[in-house]
Amino acid sequence: MTFRTRFAPSPTGPLHLGHAYSAMLAHDMAKARGGTFLLRIEDIDASRSRLEWETQIYSDLTWLGLTWPQPVMRQSDRLPDYRRALQEFWDRGLIYPCTCTRRDIAASASAPQEGAPLIGPDGIVYPGTCRKPAPQGPLPDDVALRLDMRAALDDAPLTFTETGAGPNGETGLISTNWPHAIECIGDIVLARTAMGTSYHLSVVVDDAAQGITLVPRGADLFDATAIHVILQRLLDLPTPTYHHHRLIRDDAGKRLAKRDDARAIAKYREDGATPQDIRQIFGLP
Ligand code: GLU
Ligand code: ZN
Repeated sequence: MTFRTRFAPSPTGPLHLGHAYSAMLAHDMAKARGGTFLLRIEDIDASRSRLEWETQIYSDLTWLGLTWPQPVMRQSDRLPDYRRALQEFWDRGLIYPCTCTRRDIAASASAPQEGAPLIGPDGIVYPGTCRKPAPQGPLPDDVALRLDMRAALDDAPLTFTETGAGPNGETGLISTNWPHAIECIGDIVLARTAMGTSYHLSVVVDDAAQGITLVPRGADLFDATAIHVILQRLLDLPTPTYHHHRLIRDDAGKRLAKRDDARAIAKYREDGATPQDIRQIFGLP
């Protein structure tokens, strides 16, 4: 099997140091193993994605010295593939339409008898308001769709190999289990209104489509990996190895966000830094 890594930015703002670290790590790991580094543009959120940011991503990564095969996979071109996966879930009776607003969910999850709402890697654990067994009719396309975690329950082991570390140092063979997922993750959203998919569904379908064998990404996504493994089992897709890396923080120790333009790669370029200077910040050769 070919060794393949990827960097999958969303074109919703400038790339900052944290992105550069992920991208360089993915690139260097692929080169060290004689493998391939792939780029994927995660632009399913049309309200926030901009072509200018995508252009800037190509420019910044090229400046950093990275190369990748063309054509670049863009998630906005792949809605039929996500739809096919949703259709499969629908036909198996594993997803249901949900019309709750964020406010509805927060209100019913924190009803007095429930105590404080439980927050999982997909947000507040869904209280199940819209859940009904095996909805009939054609797959709806204008409404949010949730995975019925209880109906999906299966005896497939939920494990993945971590070669980096999670936020609490988790490394090696990581396992979770269905009862824990039902309780602490809940019915995740697989399609959002006006989007036709979700981050979790697209990332899983696309890592498989691109034949990714190692996923290097920030430790903030470690908890989401349990969701990705569940979707891989349900869709019968391979689970890549994951390498979660430390988050790059600003001088005050705060994690970098897209709005921290001071840490944008474009700003370093403007100020005359070299790609080697950027590598040095991370201790990369
Ligand atoms: N597109 C996601 C982001 O920019 C990264 C997804 C991933 O690496 O799994 O945060
Ligand atoms: Zn609902």
